This record gives sequence, C-alpha cells and structure tokens, in this order.
Amino acid sequence: MAKKEVDDRFKKFGTVSFTAITKTNDFISYLEKGKVMGSRCKECQAIYFPPRSDCFKCLHSNMEWFEVTGPGRLLSFSELKYGPVGFEDDLPYIIALLDYGDYKVFGRISKDIPYEDLNVGMELKTEFYALPNGQLSYVFKRS
Ligand SMILES: [Zn+2]
Repeated sequence: MAKKEVDDRFKKFGTVSFTAITKTNDFISYLEKGKVMGSRCKECQAIYFPPRSDCFKCLHSNMEWFEVTGPGRLLSFSELKYGPVGFEDDLPYIIALLDYGDYKVFGRISKDIPYEDLNVGMELKTEFYALPNGQLSYVFKRS
C-alpha cells in the first residue's frame, strides 16, 4: 500500500516539467549552477518544493529562493521500472521522499546507492544531477 502512495506522488511530479507550470524557470538557472532551490513566501514564511511563484496559503507572490542543503531524512522509497516521458532512458531507478522538517523533497535516489542499503529514517542529501539525456535534475546521495 505504501508503494502505491509513492507512485501516485511521482505521477504528479513527473508528468510535466513542473517548472513551466509554476513559472519558476529560475529553478533551471540555479540547477545549471548546481543548486537545488525551493521557494519561501516572504509574507507568511510558507516553504515550497518544488518552488512556486505564488503562495497558496496567503495568496501573495512575494517569494524568495532558498537552497535545499544538508541532510534530510528518508521517509519512503520505491523502485520504478517505468516512468514518465523524459525519464524513461534512465530506468530503473528509485524514487524517494526526503523530510527536511519544514518541507519535503520528492526525487530519486542516486544510482550509487543500492536498494538494499536504503532504510526509512536514514539521512540523505539532495544534489544536482544531469540525466544521461542532458535533462537537469537532482538526486539523493549519502550525506
Ligand atoms: Zn504566504
């Protein structure tokens, strides 16, 4: 049951280039510099990842960027044998959710960590990663 839940989340994340939807194309510019960024509302301090240009909580658009750094805690993970368009060249891979306290980051586990080594609660860090097809992304690595 837990696995299904994760897969549904991935669908939300992967069916689109989420940066286009959220109008936060600077996200890509930051990725090009090797930085993984989220956005924070300057009005109410709400934190968003993936970043958003408008705050759902207070409806302001006064957002600032912050870098996703340091360790997060592995909440859940699941191996994916097939994926959405744009990601299929790199299958299979492991998707996961990291808990950073104020926010959560959904993404994929670095290929250098075997499935057997993963444990819920372990610390991982989020790092820039270029997919084999040249697409810019990020992965979770050992912290
Ligand atoms: Zn807000």
